[in-house]
Amino acid sequence: MNELHNMEISSASPKKKNFIYEIIDDDLQTNKWKGDVHTRFPPEPNGYLHIGHAKSIFLNYGISEDFHGKFNLRFDDTNPSKEEQEYVDSIIEDVKWLGADFEKRIFFASDYFDQMYQLAVELIKKGKAYVCDLNGDEIRSSRGTLTEPGKESPFRNRSIEENLNLFQRMRTGEFRDGEKTLRAKIDMASPNINLRDPIMYRIVHEEHQRQGKKWCIYPTYDWAHGLEDSIEKITHSICTLEFENHRPLYDWFLNELGMHHPQQIEFARLNLNYTVMSKRKLLQLVKDNYVDDWDDPRMPTISGLRRRGYTSEALKDFTESIGVAKRDAMTDISLLEFSIRNDLNKRAQRAMAVLRPLKIVITNYPEDQVEELEAVNNPEDASMGKRVLPFSREIFIEQTDFMENPPKGFHRLIPGGEVRLRYAYIIRCDEAIKNETGEVVELYCSFYPDTKSGTGTSTKKVKGTIHWVSASQAVSVEVRLYERLFTIENPASDENWLSFLNPNSVEIITGALVEPSLSKAKIGEHIQFERNGYFCVDSKYAINERLVFNRTVTLKDSWRPKK
Ligand code: ATP
Ligand code: MG
Repeated sequence: MNELHNMEISSASPKKKNFIYEIIDDDLQTNKWKGDVHTRFPPEPNGYLHIGHAKSIFLNYGISEDFHGKFNLRFDDTNPSKEEQEYVDSIIEDVKWLGADFEKRIFFASDYFDQMYQLAVELIKKGKAYVCDLNGDEIRSSRGTLTEPGKESPFRNRSIEENLNLFQRMRTGEFRDGEKTLRAKIDMASPNINLRDPIMYRIVHEEHQRQGKKWCIYPTYDWAHGLEDSIEKITHSICTLEFENHRPLYDWFLNELGMHHPQQIEFARLNLNYTVMSKRKLLQLVKDNYVDDWDDPRMPTISGLRRRGYTSEALKDFTESIGVAKRDAMTDISLLEFSIRNDLNKRAQRAMAVLRPLKIVITNYPEDQVEELEAVNNPEDASMGKRVLPFSREIFIEQTDFMENPPKGFHRLIPGGEVRLRYAYIIRCDEAIKNETGEVVELYCSFYPDTKSGTGTSTKKVKGTIHWVSASQAVSVEVRLYERLFTIENPASDENWLSFLNPNSVEIITGALVEPSLSKAKIGEHIQFERNGYFCVDSKYAINERLVFNRTVTLKDSWRPKK
């Protein structure tokens, strides 16, 4: 788990992207599925989707696209105690946003409950399932271990009639929660523990969000999942590695029932360092208010990443670049940041924003003059055009771009030093004004009129160029800067994972100033603040038209992964 993924270059042929493509290629050659390719994404609606789910969505949808097949969105809503409509809605929104087109094929496992019940009756009639009166603890303790076989339940040899009768009464609500289960009758001595008479139905007297009070018995994942795949005529049922040992059971149920039998294929789940990915842990972060909500921009959820300014294109690029593996590994979050920088570099309009302002008065610039300067919107894409920047006697620069006692190699502004203002003039710092505590609060500078960017005749050269905004036209905004959510690489591996939350994962700057062209920026718009990073207009924090910008990512990787 602590090995870092290297970037894998996908092969040129779209049909050989990974080992699953090879399996499907073979199936098409042998006509196993009569030319069909049908995949699905089967989330349980018990939380919001995270970037690991995005990997599964892109993989399953990508296969259906590349092989001209079909892709279903199916809610695995078999556990009423943890599932909610809010999660269903958010999942639909996220899957659509990622661009995975399920057309009209949106399904709910709970719609198959009647069919599943009938199939269970069929297994009972074949003598392959029985009602067991052992409680949860007893079932667990009689299951055996990896080295010891399990013990057969004393209820294992009930007659078919008795089983049919009891199962029917389980359904009609005669028994309490946990009083009885329906179990498959397989082999208590099987080397695979999953085959030691696994539970198919539990009694749970709870209302289902779609089925209401119709059911008080609910199917387990192992029983339900293969049936869902089979009913939908899925061909390739792609899941994560932890289900590898469940595959014999998936196959056993479908073989016993003689139903359409998809092939289960497992791949390694995506793990990202410096975050957690299990829905249980993400739910805890939300419920206990460690973050604002599921879509907090620090969360690895799709909705959090979207608010943070991630694009679906970057997420797709990222999940494809790390490839599909057969072995679990930890992926470095800087690879994700690489993908988003790459994408935003092409699409984000540039602008100037000063996060922590320091005022400059240009003493030799006429007092009421406002000059219009021209700035390029995106040097990577001339079609994005140019914009106008106001320049005047009073401007703001970044506090960190001035130093009274600079270290060697500091090329920005110092007392008596010169610097170029981006798209404008070269200025010289004549005097630093301090307050009572000795803090520099304002600079008096002079400008060289013949150094105007583009048209100036001067041959004067300086080493540094800094960004700025004109004081009277600048717009005051809030800016939120984010750091990693956790201070250690693999918080999930520690019981006290919450103690590794990064106390500085968000910094809120209320007095930032941006150039006036941004006053009409729209929610979700991507902008590069020159030298400060890529930002995006937040969808939630803005109040009374006040703009709030989330930093999506810095311009450079400021953090190096360990070799
Ligand atoms: P979690 O462990 O976060 O609760 P889950 O697997 O229980 O996730 P599901 O809603 O059952 O969540 O997942 C839906 C699909 O997404 C499954 O097919 C699952 O294999 C896949 N999936 C979940 N997490 C990841 C991940 N980290 N990487 C790749 N695929 C994933
Ligand atoms: Mg699951």
